[in-house]
Amino acid sequence: MNNKKPRERNKLRLLERKAIKAAKLRGHNMSRPEPRGKKGMMRSYSYCRTCAMTMMMDEHPQPNGISIGGEALALNCKEG
Ligand SMILES: [Zn+2]
Repeated sequence: MNNKKPRERNKLRLLERKAIKAAKLRGHNMSRPEPRGKKGMMRSYSYCRTCAMTMMMDEHPQPNGISIGGEALALNCKEG
């Protein structure tokens, strides 16, 4: 069993990797995620270089919120 808690920064990194992978499957060419916010409440934002759709990664979402979201994760890339 792994009882080690991941560091907050690593948690956001993990979300970023997950989200970019998911967006890539939809054909997007995502920008490097840009972290914003306070320590422990960080969010990363990224956009598609092709269609400009965005996505957001939240390391500390509301209880009923989501940690990753955005249209880039819900819709396929509109290339051309
Ligand atoms: Zn796109």
